[in-house]
Amino acid sequence: MTSAPPRRATVIGSGIIGLTSAICLTDAGFQVTIVTASMPGDTTSAAAGAIWGPYETGGGHRPTLWARQTLSELIDLAALPGTGVYLVPGIQASESETPQPSWSSDVESFETCPAEELPPSYRTGWHFSVPIIDMPRHLASLVDRFRSGGGRIEMRDVKGLRSERRDGLLLVNCTGIGARELVGDSSVSPARGQVVVVENPGIEEFFVAKRGDNPEQLYVLPHGDTVSLGGTFEFGNWNATPDPEVARGIIDRCTAVCPGLQGAAVVGHRVGLRPCRPAVRLEVSDEPGAGLVIHNYGHGGSGVSMAWGCARETVDLALRAIGTREVL
Ligand SMILES: Cc1cc2nc3c(=O)[nH]c(=O)nc-3n(C[C@H](O)[C@H](O)[C@H](O)COP(=O)(O)OP(=O)(O)OC[C@H]3O[C@@H](n4cnc5c(N)ncnc54)[C@H](O)[C@@H]3O)c2cc1C
Repeated sequence: MTSAPPRRATVIGSGIIGLTSAICLTDAGFQVTIVTASMPGDTTSAAAGAIWGPYETGGGHRPTLWARQTLSELIDLAALPGTGVYLVPGIQASESETPQPSWSSDVESFETCPAEELPPSYRTGWHFSVPIIDMPRHLASLVDRFRSGGGRIEMRDVKGLRSERRDGLLLVNCTGIGARELVGDSSVSPARGQVVVVENPGIEEFFVAKRGDNPEQLYVLPHGDTVSLGGTFEFGNWNATPDPEVARGIIDRCTAVCPGLQGAAVVGHRVGLRPCRPAVRLEVSDEPGAGLVIHNYGHGGSGVSMAWGCARETVDLALRAIGTREVL
């Protein structure tokens, strides 16, 4: 009896969305190659803070489901050594009266913060524990996991989906902000984010200020020996170079709410371009001549919080599409 040929997939992009999609496709039996213009450590994903959830996931049924599935996966990863994921307690606070977040029942130990525990000028706050992710370390662990499952990574720029088309090949487009050019989607726009990384002077709890789309964000995210200080949300700004003045503003804002950071040694500056879109594009494409393509991009400021849920839906979409097509 002859066994069925392995299914093949090319995932374009090696940020958090590409890596999680590639791992889930490998787990589902696909032979996967990642093709990427930049290695994981040089992506927007590597610049992210990152914390699950407190950045809004856009609401709606699908993002809520993706975020829940991702939370569960990240909590499992936090129990393993070397993943760069930590389950950390902390506070999210707001300077205005703010209703309890929709995800409050999903996270561990959620409770309202007494006013005396909030920094001056803050009026509402919640205490809870969520995964905080040291992204460069986390992405490196995902690359190891992908490669040890037989996956390959090729570094090159993809000029168009049609040029990648091969018989029997599934294409998965996880290009983040790059989708604007690759598939001509002008609804994807950058929101520049800058972060300062400092040595951890002993911070054990996170602090996130809820500021919506305010260009001046404020968060303190400890992960082991370092702390990520944020940040910015500069819509429409394509500048990927760290700005020293912006960095000073970030350090001042964070030190004001977390005085223990005073004088902490700076070990790095990071900038990333969040791929903002009115809604995440996660769907099978029927572009003529491109074969079977699944788009998975446009996660804005919440890609780390939704990645595993989106990756699982990518596999479901692929298996359903293959079942109804003769292409693969
Ligand atoms: C400062 C900052 C803080 C953030 N904090 C959080 C947080 O706390 N929580 C959270 O959930 N999210 C956070 N985010 C958002 C999160 O980082 C993004 O949603 C996520 O990284 C998007 O991942 P991605 O894989 O789609 O894109 P990227 O990481 O940008 O990856 C895209 C990949 O596609 C490749 N590519 C693009 N075009 C091509 C092409 N033509 N050919 C080949 N390869 C191509 C790139 O090289 C790259 O490998 C933050 C973002 C920033 C910048």
